[in-house]
Amino acid sequence: MNTHSSWLLRASVTLVLATASVTATASPAAAAAGDSFWTTTPSLLGTPVVYVEEHVGARFDSALRSSISFVDRYTGSDMRLGRCRTGYRCIRVVESNATQGYGAWTSWTFGRKTSKIRLSGALSRKGWYTRRSIIDHELGHANGAPHNSRCTSRMWPDDRCRNNRLPARTFTKAERVKLARW
Ligand SMILES: [Zn+2]
Repeated sequence: MNTHSSWLLRASVTLVLATASVTATASPAAAAAGDSFWTTTPSLLGTPVVYVEEHVGARFDSALRSSISFVDRYTGSDMRLGRCRTGYRCIRVVESNATQGYGAWTSWTFGRKTSKIRLSGALSRKGWYTRRSIIDHELGHANGAPHNSRCTSRMWPDDRCRNNRLPARTFTKAERVKLARW
């Protein structure tokens, strides 16, 4: 009955291992399971520069640019719009309806070296502030933030709080710690 229920945002965690790939739906438990991998990430990076390869229309462009500078402040990353290149982390942003019924969907490979954010066609019809809020959330996932069980940050897993407002445009202290590792 709640039209927002179909807008829950989830991330899938794809851990690409040497001989097998494991896919799990992100949840507090799944995020905790990923902790052991996070500590190994800096060796995969070596540079704060992250390329954001944009394959979305003008409908998303200005919201994406705003989200990039917002999330950069917490990660210490230097996200730049441009083609992904060898030796740098990469976030591909595509318009796709393969979002498991949600407004958007983020997946990533080992160490989040390459992340993919899918933004649905339905999301493109939402208002600018909602689009930006959801892109903030997905970029948070792409940079290591799990869901927040309270509506006190952008990592709340729905597009609106229970009071129908957008989640606050911030990250919690715990989320900041995780984002700062990326
Ligand atoms: Zn999410």
